[in-house]
Amino acid sequence: MPDCLFCRIIAREVPATIVYEDDRALAFRDLHPQAPTHVLVVPRTHVAIIDDIEESHEADIGHLFRVAAEVAKKEGLTSRGYRTVMNCGEEAGQSVFHLHLHVLGGKAMGWPPFPRG
Ligand code: AMP
Repeated sequence: MPDCLFCRIIAREVPATIVYEDDRALAFRDLHPQAPTHVLVVPRTHVAIIDDIEESHEADIGHLFRVAAEVAKKEGLTSRGYRTVMNCGEEAGQSVFHLHLHVLGGKAMGWPPFPRG
């Protein structure tokens, strides 16, 4: 998708700090980190939003969690704990419409997450 920011990062047209990649997924540091570790894990296949996930995407989407665990291990978060978040739509705060799993860690977090006040 030529106008998709994360497709452009995958295509290396937009720079990013890539921390992991394989044939299905790419992981790179968030430009505006909300925690000491804040990495986004994205499928190479363009899917805009959770509502658009089809059966054929299930393996790629499941793979994002395995990559998240791998990233967390590399970042030294496995024993400390970390959070994965996938926002869906406007009220959840989704701003980039290419599926991405946030991997956040390195500090203690509260619940519920990030209330808007
Ligand atoms: P969301 O709000 O869930 O759609 O998350 C989108 C995330 O993408 C935000 O946390 C942004 O900080 C992050 N972001 C936006 N542009 C870039 C970029 N060029 N490189 C890395 N992360 C980005």
